[in-house]
Amino acid sequence: MRIGIIGAGQLGQMLGFAARGLGHECFFLDPSGDPPAAKAGPVVQAPFDDPVALSVLAEKVDVLTYEFENVPVEALRGIAGGTPIYPPLEALRLAQDRLDEKQLFERLDIPLPAYHVVDSAADLHAAADAIGLPLVVKTRRLGYDGKGQFVLRDKNQVAEAWQAIGTVPLIAEQWVPFDYEVSAIGVRGVDGQVAAYCLTHNEHAGGILRVSHAPVDDDRLTAKAHAYLSRMLEHLDYVGVLALELFVAGDALLANEFAPRVHNSGHWTIEGAATSQFANHIRAVTGAAPGPVDTVGHAGMVNLIGTIPDSARHAAVGTLHDYGKSPRPGRKLGHITVVAATGPERDAQTAVLTETVTQSSTLNGTST
Ligand code: AMP
Repeated sequence: MRIGIIGAGQLGQMLGFAARGLGHECFFLDPSGDPPAAKAGPVVQAPFDDPVALSVLAEKVDVLTYEFENVPVEALRGIAGGTPIYPPLEALRLAQDRLDEKQLFERLDIPLPAYHVVDSAADLHAAADAIGLPLVVKTRRLGYDGKGQFVLRDKNQVAEAWQAIGTVPLIAEQWVPFDYEVSAIGVRGVDGQVAAYCLTHNEHAGGILRVSHAPVDDDRLTAKAHAYLSRMLEHLDYVGVLALELFVAGDALLANEFAPRVHNSGHWTIEGAATSQFANHIRAVTGAAPGPVDTVGHAGMVNLIGTIPDSARHAAVGTLHDYGKSPRPGRKLGHITVVAATGPERDAQTAVLTETVTQSSTLNGTST
């Protein structure tokens, strides 16, 4: 089949490679020149909401999907000609606004941190009174990798927080003293068949994902997270891969956010699972049933951020994925995946890789 992918970053690149492996052809739309996915198929260079470019892309392909969350939903709704778009645009719409997202979790009985809608500095005071401090204040729209966030530790900081991010609608959340973070990644086919990967343990720094480990060896937690994930997939009549990010705090599992797309915390599935998240997304949007999601060992993924040091290129273990992007502080340039026979072996390997990557980043002044 011919697949149109909106967005041509590294997620598009890996989707494109997976599609090629399954005998499909991809066409991309992206505003940037020479994006990572250009290695996987032709790119129409235009803004995401350019109606002409979207129609040209839609006419060329059998199905459309997206790898980028901030594509204007209205522009996609406006595509004429009836080319199917998966995942459903309602999922994209809900994921674009943290309030809609939280209200979806509430409707589906998925526990989440206490929150307060904030449209003024006075609302921030009210949120602090209602929820307590610290509060994590986030822009409702267009936030990613911890951008558009402010941790309010003291009411004296209200003016500062408001000045920093308060020109747009906000959400204030209870600061969760979590034990660790996990993501639940699953896929649903056109016929409603669901498959969920084992839970992934994620470590962030400065709001950016650094390291993922899978599987998380906790059956109770996994069953709970998978129940939440299935609830979302069914409710949204979803087609494709969806990632749900959760905080683990004692016995509680609290939803943070979801992404209606393949996810950085699922990159390990390329080497570490029977079918990668990318192949499963492509399978779903082209009408095939999900492929098996069993793990093939204990996987770890280390993100390469800001720079890809020579030491990472010559590491004794792991598979390097270089997205071909130019270095820039805080930018995700690639990742390395290791797959080991045991969890401790995997942890030792990712610890060495993380040390190497962090040291080189700091030396190059690109630590974030
Ligand atoms: P987000 O953009 O919402 O995924 O936030 C980025 C990261 O900030 C998360 O992965 C957490 O590490 C941290 N974070 C976000 N919200 C909270 C919260 N309510 N409590 C504690 N940490 C948080």
